[in-house]
Amino acid sequence: MTRAERLGAELAEREIDALLINDLIDLRYLSDFSGSHGMAVMFGPRLAGELGGPRFLTDFRYETQAQEEVPGMFERRIASGDLIDVAVAELAGASGRLGYDDASMTVKGLRRLEEMLPQGWELVPAAGTVAGLRAVKEPAEIELIRASAQLADEAMRGLLEGGLRGRTELDVAIDLELRMRRLGASAPSFPSIVAAGPHGALPHAQPREQEIPANVLVTIDWGALHDGYCSDCTRTYATGESISDLAREVYGLVLSAEQAGVQGVAAGLTGREVDAIAREIIERAGHGEHFGHGLGHGVGLEVHEGPRLSRAGGEETLRAGNVVTVEPGVYLPGLLGVRIEDLLAITDDAQDVLTSLPRELTVIS
Ligand code: ZN
Ligand code: ZN
Repeated sequence: MTRAERLGAELAEREIDALLINDLIDLRYLSDFSGSHGMAVMFGPRLAGELGGPRFLTDFRYETQAQEEVPGMFERRIASGDLIDVAVAELAGASGRLGYDDASMTVKGLRRLEEMLPQGWELVPAAGTVAGLRAVKEPAEIELIRASAQLADEAMRGLLEGGLRGRTELDVAIDLELRMRRLGASAPSFPSIVAAGPHGALPHAQPREQEIPANVLVTIDWGALHDGYCSDCTRTYATGESISDLAREVYGLVLSAEQAGVQGVAAGLTGREVDAIAREIIERAGHGEHFGHGLGHGVGLEVHEGPRLSRAGGEETLRAGNVVTVEPGVYLPGLLGVRIEDLLAITDDAQDVLTSLPRELTVIS
């Protein structure tokens, strides 16, 4: 099934006749448009016959780009004013339920929508309609994510050759990002985290202008954005053989939780159930309170998307085609932190791990 067909089935299920797409990532997913100003109106099966093909709207700055990127099934409109005005004008003469993205629509946009909506139309919140489709990747999308992950791995291999000790966290982060750009990434998929010693106890630590000392753990969390698709990976390295016994013990614990999580991910389980596989191992070791975040998240056009592997919000059942991270961590305030994160695609009967860097504790001096 094409994306448009999958969306049509979803709209029929939700009894939505037309769907306004204003989230730019959803727009890219449905129309291939990679610009930064645009909107689409997609029709459910009932209206597709009546109103013709889906509409794509942008302004004159993106006219050429839209011609090149947006497939011919879309009727293209170049708007000079508010895109919402032009979008709802396309609905005139028909009637039904118009879905809008209540997660990304601004209050101002919603007011405008209510004001301009033609007679016979009812507005219905429909956040997550496209996100649900995006969570199940097509084989070609998995290959794009794999390529992005390989690029990020290669950048890290190059970086590690130069060592970590004596460099600042910030210098390592910039070097890694530059390497990804040189290898063809359009950007890092998020600002890289490089956190040494006690700083590693902050899961979202910002790299500092402080030198990385010998014999500590350094957590590095990074990813590439390549051909529109993200990757996400974390490794924790030791900067010498003489790290503390505690550091070694926590690393071993996180590694066993991570491996159990990776092996446990399977179609048919909920995100919460997979989270529990890894979390139980950490809890049994007495570190439950030191693992304060979810086990993982979906990755695709965005670095954080559905499905979620977590206690809160992990109700969704995993399906073949989901691409998710598994990233348990243990954070001991004032002492150290360890996180290990792999990216994997769920297939019908196994996991396809997209990260190729070793997970065992590696000393990089
Ligand atoms: Zn990450
Ligand atoms: Zn992640």
